[in-house]
Amino acid sequence: MEKKKNTAKEKKLEAINAYWDKNCICNLRIGATQAVPGNGDADAQILFIGEAPGKKEDEQGVPFVGASGKFLSEMLATINLKREDIFITNVVKYRPPENRDPSPKEKEACRQWLVDQVNSIDPVLIVTLGRHAMENFIPDKKISEVHGKMFCVTFSDLGTRTFYCLYHPAAALYNGGLREVLKKDFKKIPQSLKKIQKEK
Ligand code: URA
Repeated sequence: MEKKKNTAKEKKLEAINAYWDKNCICNLRIGATQAVPGNGDADAQILFIGEAPGKKEDEQGVPFVGASGKFLSEMLATINLKREDIFITNVVKYRPPENRDPSPKEKEACRQWLVDQVNSIDPVLIVTLGRHAMENFIPDKKISEVHGKMFCVTFSDLGTRTFYCLYHPAAALYNGGLREVLKKDFKKIPQSLKKIQKEK
């Protein structure tokens, strides 16, 4: 069945992105071509959060359009999802120079943008891609221990959210072992979603 568009949510998310595009104080914006706010369904059940835009994303203003994005789309197809069915964004909205890791200060400067996106979309499940995205919400855990598992965490600004942590597709592209783990973890997303919906 075709999903009805929630235009109120679309408009709200557009307004959030327009506001922060103007007002975000992250110093990464100085060297970036443009902000990469995120894209997909503003009313998605699943929100994917990566680390930071890379070169292609910076050029196009769209997240996950490079090699790791292609791999992500392939994995989505294995669980019968398209990019339009989910929403995808990053912890920081601007490309760090030479794709270095974003600093704690840069992550903090972009945090309210992400918080507003999460609260507007209000997803059933948040899937973190890689260590940095995971640490943003679950700082005291190791990705090698938590991948493929769900966590419920309560925040003062986000309410109670359910997270499912995955390895980053870019890391998996260059490591065959990780790739298989990521594919296996990815396949468990639909059953994780069903489990949460059942418990609600
Ligand atoms: N890696 C990320 O974490 N995000 C992107 O948008 C692209 C690559």
